[in-house]
Amino acid sequence: MKILIAEDDATTRKLLRKTVEKWGHEVVEAQDGAEALAMLVQSGAKFMIVDWNMPGVDGIELCRRVRCLDEMGYVYIVLVTINDSKEDVILALESGADDHVSKPFDRKELRARVRAGERILELERALRAENDGLKSKNEQLEELVSIDPLMDIGNRRGLFKAIEKAHHRYSRYGEEYGVVMCDIDHFKTYNDSYGHLAGDRALRAVADAMKGILRVSDEIFRFGGEELVLLTPKQEPKGVTFFAERLRNAVEQVGIAHEKSARGVLTVSCGATVTSGTDVSSKWEDVLQRADRALYLAKASGRNAVRYRGNEAGAGGVPPTDPAAARGKAPAASM
Ligand SMILES: [Mg+2]
Repeated sequence: MKILIAEDDATTRKLLRKTVEKWGHEVVEAQDGAEALAMLVQSGAKFMIVDWNMPGVDGIELCRRVRCLDEMGYVYIVLVTINDSKEDVILALESGADDHVSKPFDRKELRARVRAGERILELERALRAENDGLKSKNEQLEELVSIDPLMDIGNRRGLFKAIEKAHHRYSRYGEEYGVVMCDIDHFKTYNDSYGHLAGDRALRAVADAMKGILRVSDEIFRFGGEELVLLTPKQEPKGVTFFAERLRNAVEQVGIAHEKSARGVLTVSCGATVTSGTDVSSKWEDVLQRADRALYLAKASGRNAVRYRGNEAGAGGVPPTDPAAARGKAPAASM
């Protein structure tokens, strides 16, 4: 173990060093409290033997200062002192010393006290390691509870956490974000026709198709049932609409047979929006709801379509050209 000895008297310091080294410890020396503090941080020692009476920063003050260094982990301090009245011992302990030894020190006693401190430090190290292990397990757990196991993407809980952060960044730093809400068209009839296992496979395939076109900064979540929500840092109505159109197209291109759908394959409808204007002072729930309304419009237009809805109360509310309309796609008869 590395032991830092803080002692202003050279003879005592030398004696302490030799004694402690004989027990197999590595020694770092300081001549006063200020030097000891600097060397403690530098050496990373966890055990200190400290003289009470030193010029400048004395042993008591040193104890107090060490207890203020919270990035160090626990440092065990034995105060060596000629001041060993009951009041002095109380003052030493209250200042942060763990133990005290009277001066001139008795080797056997000092050795026993060093061992006691060593045991406590070992225990502290073990607890810390266990704690770190628990922390990392907690993080893993936290991640797991935010994932939808079937689609292997974030779940509703994950979405709420992510959109809350995104909205905070928007309100606070003006970083706009886009939301695309997607719903698989005629999914109930798909399940009825092909069975729920096929339905599960289709859900996974839809998520995979969308994941295939995402950038690292985009996030995808299962909102529930056959609904997905995507968060993207895109800032323009046109950009987020184009992004939604790519998502819609990616799903159509997979070509999952769905005989009761207008196109003969499984498709999605998408509602898109971006933050602007008064969104700064409103809640993320309002942004999500706008994407939901846009999705409703996409459904109403005949499905397998993208609709955009901006924040009319703010800038950027003008809907861009609808890509489905631009392709000249006739709306399907049923909704
Ligand atoms: Mg002294």
